[in-house]
Amino acid sequence: MAEKLNAVKGMNDILPPSVPRTEKLPDSALWQWFEETVRKVLASYGYQNLLTPIVEPTALFVRGLGEVTDIVEKEMYSFVDSMNGDRLTLRPEATAGIVRAVIEHNALYNGPLRVWTVGPMFRHERPQKGRYRQFHQLDVEALGLAGPDVDAEMILIARALWRELGLIEGQHVRLELNSLGQPQERRAHREALVRHFEAHAAQLDEEATRRLHSNPLRILDSKNPAMQALIEQAPKLMDFLGTESLAHFQSVCAVLDAVGLAYSVNPRLVRGMDYYNLTVFEWVTDQLGSQGTVCGGGRYDGLIEQLGGKSAPAVGFGLGIERLLLLVQALRLPVPDAAPDVYAIVPPGTPLAPVAATLEALRAQGVRVLQHGAGAEGLGSMKSQFKKADGSGAAYALIFGADELAAGEVTVKSLRDGSGAQQRQSLAAPAGWAHTLQSRA
Ligand code: ATP
Ligand code: MG
Repeated sequence: MAEKLNAVKGMNDILPPSVPRTEKLPDSALWQWFEETVRKVLASYGYQNLLTPIVEPTALFVRGLGEVTDIVEKEMYSFVDSMNGDRLTLRPEATAGIVRAVIEHNALYNGPLRVWTVGPMFRHERPQKGRYRQFHQLDVEALGLAGPDVDAEMILIARALWRELGLIEGQHVRLELNSLGQPQERRAHREALVRHFEAHAAQLDEEATRRLHSNPLRILDSKNPAMQALIEQAPKLMDFLGTESLAHFQSVCAVLDAVGLAYSVNPRLVRGMDYYNLTVFEWVTDQLGSQGTVCGGGRYDGLIEQLGGKSAPAVGFGLGIERLLLLVQALRLPVPDAAPDVYAIVPPGTPLAPVAATLEALRAQGVRVLQHGAGAEGLGSMKSQFKKADGSGAAYALIFGADELAAGEVTVKSLRDGSGAQQRQSLAAPAGWAHTLQSRA
């Protein structure tokens, strides 16, 4: 046998439910359910779908995310296009590409734009549960809108998703909120922060020392237990915000209060990209160990101009789909049944034409039908076909036996209610009894 090749480390296949998985990653039925739910929820907020390429010029991310961010410093899959020498990067996040597309197509010409996208992102990280090198995000962005109402809308979209998926806010996922203010407010805070950390330089770890002058805000995000006390005493950005920034934040909070959405203000919430200002938020869970952030976002009013567009405000979030589905799995939330309604059993020697005609008629009525397929050894025994039917999760077996066909009929056998009850139905008009096979609403 030829040598077998495996997927790239940290990049996963999303397998159908019927394929046994060694690593218990969410199966494709869960993904489909999630994506259908996303479509429904985003439509209910009037958002449109936008798809951008997964490869972009490297400069887009370097300029967009900031040179001293984790992503740009060490997580990007960058390469030189051997055809023409272009420097390219597999997108590590979605916002920069969306902003690039919006500028390129002058998409804000007619007013604001509300869009969403789902797709793979790439980061060269140490693979572990909930952290992969190819992962997927739902990304939602509202561009050209400055008000706190839209910040709140972002948070509410996420809540609507939780509700549709059966996650309980406050219990399964919690909202954390902060304001990063405006650049000049951040500069004043940054100076105070550097002074604070410089005064305690001996307590800084290597990473924090490196960041002290390049990106001191990120020190607040450190998970090193030895530095927590020092971080706790650090000057808080909230204390440096002017009246406008504070008013914006209070308006967001007021909307959340009004709709009964509980949150905690986390002054240490800074997010990983440099483009954020004003509101930032994360939805977190305690169920996934240290990979607890399911969804994160915020306002990025400076990014469009920074990437060469006409200045326009914007706000958005990214949601990690693998983490979310791992959470759904861990909580054993009920998910819709992806099994077929019917498994069609076709004894060897059965003429195939009436089988196909009947099954096509049932499918046209919305019945999910899985037909037993012939292998290299033919159709196989009734016994082995019944085993397949049971394994498929179908609620009914349709049996195209010779007796039945001779009478112009087919047997319908119940597989899941334990009764084994069976009855005959006419092949002449499958549309008349198709509804009896539909187990789901
Ligand atoms: P973390 O702090 O966990 O590294 P992040 O701040 O880098 O997350 P974002 O850039 O905000 O993450 O991306 C939004 C969401 O995408 C995260 O909240 C998370 O759910 C998901 N995500 C980010 N990186 C990964 C990854 N390597 N594998 C799987 N999901 C990821
Ligand atoms: Mg990260």
